[in-house]
Amino acid sequence: MPPNSQPAAQGGADIAAIRQAVAALCARFPGEYWRALDRERAYPTDFVRALTESGFLACLIPEEFGGSGLGIGAAAAILEEVHKAGCNGAACHAQMYIMGTLLRHGSAAQKAEWLPRIATGALRLQAFGVTEPSAGTDTTAIRTIARREGDRYIVNGQKVWTSRVEHSDLMLLLARTTPRGDVAKRTEGISVFLVDLREARGKGVSIRPIRTMMNHATTEVFFDNLEVPARNLIGEEGKGFRYILDGMNAERILIAAECIGDARWFIAKASDYAKTRIVFNRPIGQNQGVQFPIARAYAASEAAALMVERAATLYEAGTACGKEANMAKLLAADASWQAADMCIQTHGGFGFAEEYDVERKFRETRLYQVAPISTNLILAYLAEHVLGLPRSY
Ligand SMILES: Cc1cc2nc3c(=O)[nH]c(=O)nc-3n(C[C@H](O)[C@H](O)[C@H](O)COP(=O)(O)OP(=O)(O)OC[C@H]3O[C@@H](n4cnc5c(N)ncnc54)[C@H](O)[C@@H]3O)c2cc1C
Repeated sequence: MPPNSQPAAQGGADIAAIRQAVAALCARFPGEYWRALDRERAYPTDFVRALTESGFLACLIPEEFGGSGLGIGAAAAILEEVHKAGCNGAACHAQMYIMGTLLRHGSAAQKAEWLPRIATGALRLQAFGVTEPSAGTDTTAIRTIARREGDRYIVNGQKVWTSRVEHSDLMLLLARTTPRGDVAKRTEGISVFLVDLREARGKGVSIRPIRTMMNHATTEVFFDNLEVPARNLIGEEGKGFRYILDGMNAERILIAAECIGDARWFIAKASDYAKTRIVFNRPIGQNQGVQFPIARAYAASEAAALMVERAATLYEAGTACGKEANMAKLLAADASWQAADMCIQTHGGFGFAEEYDVERKFRETRLYQVAPISTNLILAYLAEHVLGLPRSY
C-alpha cells in the first residue's frame, strides 16, 4: 500500500454521521466558552478532552493501534465541523497529522510503544518543533543540533512557535545530526526525534510562552544539553527532512478543511445578520452592496472546498497530491480570510464587539495565511514544481 494510503473505510453516509456527531459535541462549547478562554489566553482543556474521549483525534490511527483507521477525508470533515461550529481545532489538530511521521517511519517497537496510548489520549502528541528563529521558512537552515553519545543524543538549540508544547506529553522534534556545512545536500543530516516532555521538562528543556493576537498556546523552546534516548530517533538518522515532507500534504489538507469551516461559519453568521439587521427600514441584506460580498465569499469557499475534497480523495487513493494539497491550502486560506473580512463589514460596528465572536474568529483565521506554511511559499511551490518556472530561492 502506498505510504500515505489509508483504508477507504468510510463512505458518504459515514462521513455525514461523523459530521453530525462532531457538530453535537461542538454545541456543548458555544461562543461564551471560547470568549472566556480568549480573554485569558487559556487552553481549551475541556474541549480537547471531549474530542479525545470521543475518539475523533485518533481517527487516522489504524485500528490495530487503537484508532479508528479512517481516511484523511474523515479527519478533514471533523476539523471542518469544529471550525464551522465556531470552535477552534488549532488547540489539538497536530495530534491528527504529526503522528503520521511515527506511523510511516517509526519502528514496529516505537509504534507499539506510543500509538495505542496516543489513540486513547493517555499520551498527548501535540507539539511539533520545526521552526527556529534564525531559519524561518528555510527549514534546512535549522541549527538545533542532536549529537550522538552512546545510547543517547544530546540536544542543544532553540525552537520558536512551538505550539501546544505546554499541553503535550510528547514532541516531534526536528534537529540537525550533521551540520549543514558538512552535508552534500542541505536536506540531508536532519533527523526526527520523539521527545518525552514528561521527562525532559526542567532537565534540558525550558519553555517560554509567546502571547499572540489570538488565543494560541504557542511558545519558544530552549534545549540545553537535553538527553534523548537513541531509541527515540524516528527512522534513519539524517533522513528526517524527507519524513517531515511526507506529512506535509496531510497537514495542508487538514488545515485547509479548518479554513473551509471558518469560511462557512463567517458566511452563515453574516447571512443571518444581514437578514435581521434593519437600517433605513429594510434588512441590510436587501442591499446588493451587502449581498454581493456574501455571495462572492460563498462562491470562493465552495470552490476551495472542492479542491480540498479532490486533494483528500487523491491522498486516500495513495496518489501524488502535492499540487492539490497546496492549492487546497492556498484557496481555502484565501476564502476564509475573504469571508472573515466580509463578515466584519456586514456587521458594521458590531463586528468589533467581542460578544458576536466575529472579531475573535477574524483574528484566528488570519493565521492561515502565514502558518503552517505561508501563502508565498505555496505560490513558489506551484510556480516551480508544477509550472516549471525557475527556482527563486
Ligand atoms: C501562531 C503560530 C503557531 C505556529 N505553530 C508552529 C508549530 O507548532 N511548530 C512549528 O514548527 N512552527 C510553528 N509556527 C511557525 C510557522 O510555521 C512559521 O511562522 C511560518 O512557516 C513562517 O515562518 P517565519 O515566521 O519564520 O517567516 P519567515 O520565513 O521569516 O518569512 C516572513 C515572510 O517572508 C515571506 N518569505 C520568506 N521567504 C520567501 C521567499 N523565498 N519568497 C517569497 N516570500 C518569502 C514569507 O512568506 C513570510 O510572509 C507557528 C507560527 C505561528 C504564528
